[in-house]
Amino acid sequence: VAVLTNDHVVAEPQVALVDHHVHGVVTVELDEHGVESLLTEASGPPPGATAFDSQLGFAVRRWCAPVLDLDPLVPAVEYLRRRRELGSAEVTRRLLTAASVDCWLVDTGYQGDTVTTPAELAEISGRPAMVVARLESIAQAVATAGDGAARFGANVTAAIHAAAADAIGFKTVAAYRGGLAFDPARPDTARVRAAAGRWLREIEAGAPARLTDQVLIRHGIWAALDTGLPLQFHTGYGDADSRLHLADPALLQDFLAASAGAGAPVMLLHCYPYHRQAGALAALFAHVYMDVGEALNHVGARSAAVLAEALELTPFHKMLYSSDAFGLPELHYLGAAGFRRDLAAVTGAFVACGNWSAADAARVTGMIGAGNARRAYRL
Ligand SMILES: [Zn+2]
Repeated sequence: VAVLTNDHVVAEPQVALVDHHVHGVVTVELDEHGVESLLTEASGPPPGATAFDSQLGFAVRRWCAPVLDLDPLVPAVEYLRRRRELGSAEVTRRLLTAASVDCWLVDTGYQGDTVTTPAELAEISGRPAMVVARLESIAQAVATAGDGAARFGANVTAAIHAAAADAIGFKTVAAYRGGLAFDPARPDTARVRAAAGRWLREIEAGAPARLTDQVLIRHGIWAALDTGLPLQFHTGYGDADSRLHLADPALLQDFLAASAGAGAPVMLLHCYPYHRQAGALAALFAHVYMDVGEALNHVGARSAAVLAEALELTPFHKMLYSSDAFGLPELHYLGAAGFRRDLAAVTGAFVACGNWSAADAARVTGMIGAGNARRAYRL
């Protein structure tokens, strides 16, 4: 039982981590249903079942329970009872502090009004937080500003360059808006104007300002590349809005070839179950990076195996850490603590069988945990 206490976890030397893709924490008190709904990418478990019956749910009971003064692996009902007793603010404070992340790069584009702002996340965790700006949100703001189709393209470009003054990077959810098999070329002005005209007429007719037009999505992507800041792509597993087979990062190969000379790093987020494809792309293209964030939390006890697969082909200077935590501070903590354990286990196994030196393992750990992100984002 001694090995199942939290003591050895906090006593381990902390590997520095930059969480390069993360969201805020919900600011309201969560009931059982609220916690369960944030533990799954689905709309919720079927009646009579619990989201805790998953690798992620077990990982919460195993690793987060001790942070709330509970024994590891307490039943979910006891975990939820203790969570209510402490209150959301205290639970969040404990878990974000225990995560001990050096720096958060926060995607503010998903339900940003329901979660902490980057400034609040920094305040609670005691670590700096920077903004990653969503391209589709910028285009939607320009569309609703009412300046017309003729100026739309230039206005989006100007808004992206203005955002670059404050943001550390950009993100696109093209995977959710038609998929990653898009035409890799930069669209010309006439096509952007025509596409903007169609979209603005739809909005005027009452359609929600949700960007799905392929020409306009690509216009934003190329405008972002022009800033030189890293551009993140959602790839792989996400919620039910994304078409999984259209989120395979391998579909980006022609775009990656076309953008190789643009001077901006491209960051493939999540990637699972296509993490081997992402590793191959990172190996092929100098400007391409990848992570297995989100997946490692969701695959729980199998996370070291997935990380090891990702490390098969990904050059060590091309992998980054992210949690993709959204809403539940458990996810911010599990991501960080789990990544430290998995990186130690995977590289430790390479050392144990004589393939790596301990010094190389320590150096690669430093690169993947924080060094690569510091270099790519110029932190
Ligand atoms: Zn995310």
